Amino acid sequence: MNTDILIIGGGIAGVSAAAELAPHASVVLLESEDNLAHHASSRSAALYEPHYGPPPVVALSLASGEALRAAGVLTPRGVLLVASADQAASFAAEAEAMQLTSVSPEEAAALFPPLDPARVAHAARADHASDIDTDALIQSYARAARHHGATLRTRAPVTAIAHDAAGWTVTTATDQIRATILVNAAGAWADRVASMAGVAPLGLQPHRRSMARIPAPGGLDPARWPMVFGVAETWYAKPDAGALIVSPAEADPVDAHDAWADDMVLAEGLARYEAMMRFPVDRLLSSWAGLRTFAPDGNPVYGPEPDRPDFIWFAGQGGYGFQSAPAAARLIADVTLGRRPDAALSALLSPARLRG
Ligand SMILES: Cc1cc2nc3c(=O)[nH]c(=O)nc-3n(C[C@H](O)[C@H](O)[C@H](O)COP(=O)(O)OP(=O)(O)OC[C@H]3O[C@@H](n4cnc5c(N)ncnc54)[C@H](O)[C@@H]3O)c2cc1C
Repeated sequence: MNTDILIIGGGIAGVSAAAELAPHASVVLLESEDNLAHHASSRSAALYEPHYGPPPVVALSLASGEALRAAGVLTPRGVLLVASADQAASFAAEAEAMQLTSVSPEEAAALFPPLDPARVAHAARADHASDIDTDALIQSYARAARHHGATLRTRAPVTAIAHDAAGWTVTTATDQIRATILVNAAGAWADRVASMAGVAPLGLQPHRRSMARIPAPGGLDPARWPMVFGVAETWYAKPDAGALIVSPAEADPVDAHDAWADDMVLAEGLARYEAMMRFPVDRLLSSWAGLRTFAPDGNPVYGPEPDRPDFIWFAGQGGYGFQSAPAAARLIADVTLGRRPDAALSALLSPARLRG
């Protein structure tokens, strides 16, 4: 089989890139697992908070808002930041970065009734955050990619990659595919895929983040509550289909693997959440974990490998892969198809910045 572009990885990165590229070139996407979005892309908190993240991510997230709204995947949520008396300095910096407006502890508790106003010293809120229907977003990208002739193959782990004058030969368990351009959208495995292709790894580091789903505190209806962050991202809680998801917001470095929640980390995070609340956590409905993968400088890595321009990195999305997906996929399509993306933004995201 021959294709113009071969994408490795069937998470939000790979599938969105396939949708952007398929109208212009032949595209094959290979995903190891039985389904698309098995790893990080099915385990996120699904929030669109465009002011969250380093500057290039904020630029991509703001540029993605219109496409996410047009796709019908955003539902208003709002955010609330809370802090205790000894966290005043961090609170002020974060509230400013996220463009939040101060509210009293009582107003915060009116917005998120499980909060105990006696334990909250500082609070600030904004309306500009939304829930993302991440499943609907991936399915709509997958439909668009297939509509334009892309082949999206699951149960197709890439086991070897070779390069010669004519391009790439990619081996799966069942066949070999020849491609002109390779797009590395392998999430936590992106450095491993690069090594397989003879490209030096960039030092991409997966970080585990655990989640617990708990019954709605006090039997209340959380549907209209905002997402609440403990200052310095020490925990967060978000309404989720009649229940609450609570994360210890840990960022523990781990090797790439099919992640699961760490019970001790979860217990400590739930204790930090409980320290601000009126109701204890007496039961978990479920728990899980996912990997957020970061480059050494925290910015994503989007663009061609300097010495091997037919190898395109689309990795290091960290905790922002959904909220920035439309603009990130357009940028990848631009660099892959030889169009000119925004030069300043491309430089901040290019793998060249990480090569000595
Ligand atoms: C707990 C948590 C909360 C988050 N919250 C948010 C949030 O609120 N908002 C937001 O925007 N983002 C959030 N994120 C981040 C977001 O989920 C990720 O940035 C995004 O899912 C990364 O997508 P990806 O496609 O790069 O990676 P993945 O979804 O991991 O996809 C990579 C795929 O590559 C495949 N692969 C790897 N090696 C091979 C191979 N050799 N052959 C074939 N396939 C291969 C893997 O099987 C995998 O499916 C969160 C993440 C976590 C973990």
